[in-house]
Amino acid sequence: MFEPSTAIANLLSAVASNPAAAEGMRLMTERAGDFAHPAVAQLTGIALDPAGREAADRFLDAYWSDEQRQRDALTASSDRDVIIGSGYHAAVYAATRVLAGHPRPLVLERDSRVGGTFAMTSRPVFWLNSRNRPGGPGLAGDQTANLNYLPGAPIQASNVSAAEYQTNTDMAFVIRLTLAQFADVVPNANVLAVGDYDYDYDGGRMPVDITEGRSLSAARIIDARGLGDQAGEDLTNGTTIVSFTQFMRQMAEAWPLRGLRRVAVAGGGDAGKCAVESLLGIAPQPPMAAAGLDWVQRIDWYADDLPTSCEQWQLDIRGRYQAIGRHLRADRSGARRLTVINRRADVVDLPGTALVDGKGYDLVVLCTGAKEPRIQGLGDINSCDFQTVTGAGAVARKYVDRPVFRVGPHARLPFTSLERAEGIAEQPGNAVAMFRLGSRTAALAATLPPAADS
Ligand SMILES: Cc1cc2nc3c(=O)[nH]c(=O)nc-3n(C[C@H](O)[C@H](O)[C@H](O)COP(=O)(O)OP(=O)(O)OC[C@H]3O[C@@H](n4cnc5c(N)ncnc54)[C@H](O)[C@@H]3O)c2cc1C
Repeated sequence: MFEPSTAIANLLSAVASNPAAAEGMRLMTERAGDFAHPAVAQLTGIALDPAGREAADRFLDAYWSDEQRQRDALTASSDRDVIIGSGYHAAVYAATRVLAGHPRPLVLERDSRVGGTFAMTSRPVFWLNSRNRPGGPGLAGDQTANLNYLPGAPIQASNVSAAEYQTNTDMAFVIRLTLAQFADVVPNANVLAVGDYDYDYDGGRMPVDITEGRSLSAARIIDARGLGDQAGEDLTNGTTIVSFTQFMRQMAEAWPLRGLRRVAVAGGGDAGKCAVESLLGIAPQPPMAAAGLDWVQRIDWYADDLPTSCEQWQLDIRGRYQAIGRHLRADRSGARRLTVINRRADVVDLPGTALVDGKGYDLVVLCTGAKEPRIQGLGDINSCDFQTVTGAGAVARKYVDRPVFRVGPHARLPFTSLERAEGIAEQPGNAVAMFRLGSRTAALAATLPPAADS
């Protein structure tokens, strides 16, 4: 039986008392019989109404940034799990853990906005590549499975919109509601160092240092740092050379493409593809943008593993990204906006412009992969063993000397022989997909003993 947390109950009251934001919630109460609990109907109504969703998002930001609430969260009992990061896997872990009867975990997020990769912006800026459909957990080829399923979530992504491919903020909303229901969350809390597991310290705890000189003690840590920091961040200057996240944040503002005529994108993975879609105008529409005012004339895409022609694109690239391919064809005048260049980009920062291969660009967007963010005291992946669960195989990695578990993409779990046989391993992006790793994080949360017994 769903029982709203204090945060969710307050959120529902806040939206209900705001007539401009309450319409979706009111409409959905007429279909309350379709839902397991009236609050779930109300949350679905809020999610489907842009004004309701915006109000709910604002409420959550304010709720989590409250200083007294943060102090209370940081000083509460150390007999609970502490999660590093507030993305999809933090939400999966927290929901499964609480539903299994354990205390609410504490989530520490370094960013000011809670929700991880999908929450990098509060406005939609990219489409997911996993198809939206109702159902429970399952693998990519299973037509009855929901690929964006979040075990235990108050509402699933499939109740947040009907689009075949949802936006990043659709998924972020589900993650944020799940954290509000099942965790205490402290944003602007960058975990800097984790000390040794110490029997003399606070009854056998690990000291954790976070930003602004704050610290706490943890019986167990769930390390959900995600894909990591963007590689090449040291090359960015925030104006003519930007990272994927910087570019997406720009796309969430008014006139994001102003003054951009020639743009280069480096890297051909999901981030590179989403960046190119934004430049071509086939991503979610920015708040203020008009082709007559700001039009990118030329996009050079430096990626050594992508097809260069429309025909080859149609053959090689998955359905979700097919719309990009037609821009690889020249128009009747022989001009084309998008060119794939099968080379790596060497970028040179010059005043007011950026050079790649001697060509000048108004903007270069670096989508060249990720590198692991460092936390003092936590070694690299070689300091970990696989954590296995009967029936689920390897679900996480555990540091050999302490109760710290890497989950999600941060655990870098290799494809299993079953995944190879099912063809899931053929799509490299599947390595980090929610449908692949979500149930493993849930299996870990369901089977670990109480944190105090670590
Ligand atoms: C463009 C793009 C599109 C994608 N589309 C899909 C898709 O359609 N379907 C799909 O299944 N997957 C998709 N993915 C992959 C998906 O985003 C990730 O697998 C998923 O977000 C991982 O969730 P997570 O919770 O592990 O990490 P994240 O969502 O990345 O969250 C990690 C969090 O940890 C925080 N953090 C890191 N270090 C610290 C620290 N020291 N202290 C405190 N906090 C810290 C970060 O700030 C971040 O908020 C996509 C990825 C990208 C980049």
